[in-house]
Amino acid sequence: MVDVEKGVRRVTFALPLGIDHVHCYLLRSSSGGWILVDTGLGARDPEAQWRPVLDDLDAPIERIVVTHMHPDHVGGARDVHELTGAPVLQGREDYAQCVAAWGHRDPARFVAYWSSHGMPGLTLDGVARESERLLSAVHWLEGPHLVDAGDEIDGWRVEVLRGHADGHIVLLRDGVLIAGDTILSGITPAIGLYPNSRPDPLGDYLETLDRIEELAPRVAYAGHRESIHEPAERAREIRRHHAERLERTQGALDGEPLSGYEVSLSLFPGELTPVLRRFATAESLAHLERLVFEGRAGRAGLAYVRA
Ligand SMILES: [Zn+2]
Repeated sequence: MVDVEKGVRRVTFALPLGIDHVHCYLLRSSSGGWILVDTGLGARDPEAQWRPVLDDLDAPIERIVVTHMHPDHVGGARDVHELTGAPVLQGREDYAQCVAAWGHRDPARFVAYWSSHGMPGLTLDGVARESERLLSAVHWLEGPHLVDAGDEIDGWRVEVLRGHADGHIVLLRDGVLIAGDTILSGITPAIGLYPNSRPDPLGDYLETLDRIEELAPRVAYAGHRESIHEPAERAREIRRHHAERLERTQGALDGEPLSGYEVSLSLFPGELTPVLRRFATAESLAHLERLVFEGRAGRAGLAYVRA
């Protein structure tokens, strides 16, 4: 456990995913306890995972806040809730997405979605296997306390910053942004089009970058990698990255209709594991949809053509 600043502690867990770790944060509450933000993946042995953390704290965890419904953030929510009795708070829209993704999971529909975007059978098999494996590590909690943009959690203001996840929430107080995966150092947050997602996740995310610039927090504590000391500057860098990737995506459309999967092969060439190819396809689809919204590409069924 690391004190990143007064009243903000960071706990890091290893992850067996594309990225090898995730940070959770503990915020000192006004009553002297702690607010836990994000929970890592669900553990096979929650006691072994969390007891050392709980023992290291001088006061109980009073509340658990989930920034978004991705496995590495919501995955341990029920585990910590059961160990501490603390209520779980989750964004209203994010919770609806959480239920759709993890509660009403339909593997056949999931596979059909990627197949319809051009993914070949072997990759699909790998994606389906990984999805089953992940599901067992997502211990989300039914019936959390739902929060909306503008709500306060012990002095921290809730904002909804979409894009990486549709209803991603962050907490903001005195220039400190508890950012989840809305902004990251060294890597850019994955922006993908998924079954059930809003129609233009990259458009949503570009608005999030505007909002971060406008809020201009002093520091952002994120779900992965280093803390970000100039979040507004980092937001501008990430915007440039997406502008370039939009150019490359448009360039990949050469006349023949191409599927999201095919475009992903130009944007992310080379051999990728099925899971990384799924990320690449989702990311390509998000860029293709943005191009359609901007009038720079068109649809041909589920494929895309140059406008
Ligand atoms: Zn994450």
